[in-house]
Amino acid sequence: MKIEKGRWYFGFICPHCGANIYSLDDPTQGGTKGPVAIGEAKFSVPCRSCETDEILFGTHELVPLQAHEDLLGSPALPRRKPSGKARQKLSNRYPKAKATFGIRFIEDQPECAVIFARCVVKWSYVENETALLLAKILKINTEPALAMFLAMQSSRVQIDVLTAAARTALSADDFKLFQAIMNIRRTMEGARNHLVHGLIGGSTVVKDGVLWTDQKDYVRHTATVWGTDYAQMHTKYLEEVFVYEADDLETIAQDLEWLHRFIGNLWGYLDSSDVVWRAERYHQLCTEPRVQAELQRMARVGQQS
Ligand SMILES: [Zn+2]
Repeated sequence: MKIEKGRWYFGFICPHCGANIYSLDDPTQGGTKGPVAIGEAKFSVPCRSCETDEILFGTHELVPLQAHEDLLGSPALPRRKPSGKARQKLSNRYPKAKATFGIRFIEDQPECAVIFARCVVKWSYVENETALLLAKILKINTEPALAMFLAMQSSRVQIDVLTAAARTALSADDFKLFQAIMNIRRTMEGARNHLVHGLIGGSTVVKDGVLWTDQKDYVRHTATVWGTDYAQMHTKYLEEVFVYEADDLETIAQDLEWLHRFIGNLWGYLDSSDVVWRAERYHQLCTEPRVQAELQRMARVGQQS
């Protein structure tokens, strides 16, 4: 993050060069000794001053620090506000747009390309958290669980195995929460797969987004073009062309980020044997808006059947 001279942060002192390492915002602006850390933990923190990549600190080493200089933040692009919407049909959103597909269109929209890349990268992190969840449910060492889980090529098989383990290992309430999260995961995985398995194109009318079409539709279209001796070359003969605006891509990227964090929260909760903390945490997890909505949906479906 960007560091402003005079503001307070929580951070560490580099053991190599003595520089301040500002790691977290201090909402109290120097009013407290530092955040209360629960349990044993280590922080892996790089030092920007001497460029040491990994320094391990204990929780007791996290201290309030007042910045004595301005420091530039990460070169990451500022994030957009997610639209909360899925892709839209191009003909509805931009009636005048004509679609063209080709291998370099993604490069014409560098910001979209970055958000697209975030969707790809974050999914691998979601899979990683899901493997850790299996390890925690089975209460076994992480390495064989990870190896076993990641060896299953199909996501559907992975989730079936995980669900079978959860059904026998978890209490009824915990299993319900688990199922709600797996349902949300399935929806978000669908949105991500759809995006990354399509063809990306563009239109001069669409300034801030990319066009998308299904691979099968595109192959069919190519066959039509050949079959009509190029008379029906125009992409209006393509069955479906959609537009993902940058804010729609941001929705997918941030959904995956939420999912990654939430699966981590779930295994953290399942891993604890502190009965009082667990009761409070269970309530927090179930009242998270997306989870609550899914639990309510499951209850409605359950009542009908
Ligand atoms: Zn240093």
